[in-house]
Amino acid sequence: MPPKFDPKSPENASLISLFQGLGLAEKSATELVRQPKSGLAFKSLVDEFSLENNKYDEKTASALVKLSASSGKLGPAERGFIVKKIEIGDIKSSDQVTAAVKYAEGNPAGTPINEEEFNKACGVGIDITAAQLPELLRSYISSLPTAPENWAGLSAVLGGIRSGASDLKWANAGEVKSSLETIFTELFGTKEAAQAAAKAQATSAAKTKPAPKPKAAVASSSAEASSSTSPVIPTNIFREGFLSDFHKPGENPQINPKLKEQHLEFTKGMVYTRFPPEPNGYLHIGHVKAIMVDFGYAKFHGGRTYLRFDDTNPEAEEGRYFQSILETVRWLGFEPWKITYSSDNFDQLYQWAVELTRRGKAYVCTCSAEKMKADRGLGKGQPVPCEHRDRPIEESLREFERMKNGEYPEQGAALRMKMDLSSGNPYMWDGVAYRVKLAPHHRTGDKWKIYPTYDFTHCLCDSIENISHSLCTVEFIPARESYEWLCDALEVYKARQYEFARLNLQGTFLSKRKIAKLVNNKLVKDWDDPRLYTIIALRRRGIPPGALLSFVSDLGVTTSESVVEIQRFESSVRSYLEESAPRLMMVLNPIKLIIENVADDYRVPVQVPLHPKVPAMGTVETSFTKEVYIDAEDFREEDSPDYFRLAPGKSVGLFKAPFPVTCTSYSKDPVTGQVNEIRCRLEDTGNVKKAKAYIQWVNVPESIKIDEVRYFKPLFRSDPPPADFESDVNPESLEVYKNAVIEPAFYELSKKAILDARKESEERTKKAKKESSIKSPEESKAVEGSEASKHLEDEPVVTAEQLVGMENIRFQGMRLAYFSVDRESKIGCLDENEATKPGKKDGDKIILNRIVSLKEDSGKKA
Ligand SMILES: [Zn+2]
Repeated sequence: MPPKFDPKSPENASLISLFQGLGLAEKSATELVRQPKSGLAFKSLVDEFSLENNKYDEKTASALVKLSASSGKLGPAERGFIVKKIEIGDIKSSDQVTAAVKYAEGNPAGTPINEEEFNKACGVGIDITAAQLPELLRSYISSLPTAPENWAGLSAVLGGIRSGASDLKWANAGEVKSSLETIFTELFGTKEAAQAAAKAQATSAAKTKPAPKPKAAVASSSAEASSSTSPVIPTNIFREGFLSDFHKPGENPQINPKLKEQHLEFTKGMVYTRFPPEPNGYLHIGHVKAIMVDFGYAKFHGGRTYLRFDDTNPEAEEGRYFQSILETVRWLGFEPWKITYSSDNFDQLYQWAVELTRRGKAYVCTCSAEKMKADRGLGKGQPVPCEHRDRPIEESLREFERMKNGEYPEQGAALRMKMDLSSGNPYMWDGVAYRVKLAPHHRTGDKWKIYPTYDFTHCLCDSIENISHSLCTVEFIPARESYEWLCDALEVYKARQYEFARLNLQGTFLSKRKIAKLVNNKLVKDWDDPRLYTIIALRRRGIPPGALLSFVSDLGVTTSESVVEIQRFESSVRSYLEESAPRLMMVLNPIKLIIENVADDYRVPVQVPLHPKVPAMGTVETSFTKEVYIDAEDFREEDSPDYFRLAPGKSVGLFKAPFPVTCTSYSKDPVTGQVNEIRCRLEDTGNVKKAKAYIQWVNVPESIKIDEVRYFKPLFRSDPPPADFESDVNPESLEVYKNAVIEPAFYELSKKAILDARKESEERTKKAKKESSIKSPEESKAVEGSEASKHLEDEPVVTAEQLVGMENIRFQGMRLAYFSVDRESKIGCLDENEATKPGKKDGDKIILNRIVSLKEDSGKKA
């Protein structure tokens, strides 16, 4: 029996008093000393960093106690770093200390901790007050792929918050629970009433059919799964910083108070935003931010977002881009409330152009392009008016009519806005409102010979759609003056434009024209070649949409431009996958390992967890057999003291196998000189020593051959690539491994990922269709018999299939890298019905793409 604890013994009393002095309450200080191990751990932390004369508040002191109890594996530098973070109040709660220790444990020894990443991993600076919780929780619930349907879903939602990626996990757990209970009461009535009702229903249902399973139970886990088609949308950028400071709907100034009334009558005070891409190319990584800001801002505030195709240039559009853009927006987790086209408004815009002219605020100018440039000072001087500026209104109206009737050739005439030539802002120098274009338009056919410019169209479409916040990138700052001038000149509702900095990623190659060249000259596979940075390429490579969102959210949204390093992007993807991707054993360059001292039919079932830290992901079963494959990297002919894997006479552990093996001999291929077989002894008798290192393996009889494993490196040899970029393409930027093998659980995992993705996507799509006002192609208003009606098949449509692809199968090849399945693969079992046990089929072709490496530098080695 341990000796009785005496708080008054001199030794204990002095320790208690020391701990009290540091800020602990008497009771906790005594309790700590009563547990000798904890007490000593705290004392040694105090000694290590000479904290004895400090005075903390109780919370800080408790955080230090928690640190002392859990940081045993850390080096002094890492521990010291966390002590500092606790002292300055960055790390407060016990959850944060746990996260901090976990982060520091993963930090490679000898390298300083990256504070920014540390802060993110530990929720530093996230301060969610009780008052903010209801709104945040509602928004969180609405982002779940399957909303809770009753009180039974409460614990799943709480669990999802705790283990998930949302900032809510850093909020006070008690407050979260109580706020959530309030929301559930609003949704489903009181808990007691719901329980009584469920009981009554169960009794009556027992006679007829089984009670429905609460669906919410799976919601939170699938929301985080790496195969998910409904990424969790981070909210921090809308809660703090630039995007949190915007006006409330209706507060944006108008030239006439009536306009505000009409606006609010339409929007009912909701936030309305739009994402307005030109349908003339595939979206690239820079657009992720714009999509997230436009859609996310409205979603965060319970508002609506239009996907508006800015199709005012008839020459630039191509049908395939409409569908691709809609798919991309949805793949990133957002649903347009409505899909519109600037061309829907051509009639209204034309009438406004006439009205503007009538008001004496526009005129038809027939100066040549060169003259117009010269009049505008050639970018140096102040502009001068041309002879048309003060022509009579009637004359301009007549000429505009002639432009409309196709009586002018292209560039023969333009309608210009009569703005302010004395302004310092070139956007105010009588910009062009309408120009002549004789090409037929994708939707309106040959109805128009004149087309509005971006500057004329954009603000007026925002006005028509009652946009409350018109969010765009900083290069539009100077355009804001003309944007507002035009709305005021016509006395129409005026949205407020806000500008944020673009996402610039170093080493990315985004020019449409240049990528088209690479594609046409077959230097890349297609627009979605995983070495490119179009969003379809990122998708094909296997980058999860949630990883892109969390990357943008970690960078934050500000007004100052910066260029982000590609390593930072990859590290963000890596940490996202670290949490969400299951693990499989896979061998890239297999060597056969034969265990000599077991029978030929030796077979031991082994359970391998799919994720070491997420037991909920489950396990898969494999067999440990006489012959297994290991990676060529894990064997050396010459041993050395700092090497812990397999070498002649040396032992190594095979992950989750019951015993380690010791290498007894090996043989080489006489032709290549490469080691091709290793013979080992199973150390299953006597005093088994614990292995110093564990390596992955795949049993030979059940191994699945992978046709191709594709590793990607930067596409160009130089950064940035030279003007003659085509000759700079690195032929080794695509590296293909053709001998890799993987455990049979690959099929199980693939089928589950695809089935889950399909189900989730169907539900999400059903919900989206219900909530949006997107018309089916048949309902949309193509002018009958017109060019547009011939293009009906090009109308983008919302489908469940567009969110599901081979890339939803993502996993970590243990100790190798993160991989996804390439769209060129064929895996027959994915099309079989749910109950059929998945396995290899004739004609299967498995191609894997490496998404990212496991560590920043291991890319060089591979
Ligand atoms: Zn002129």
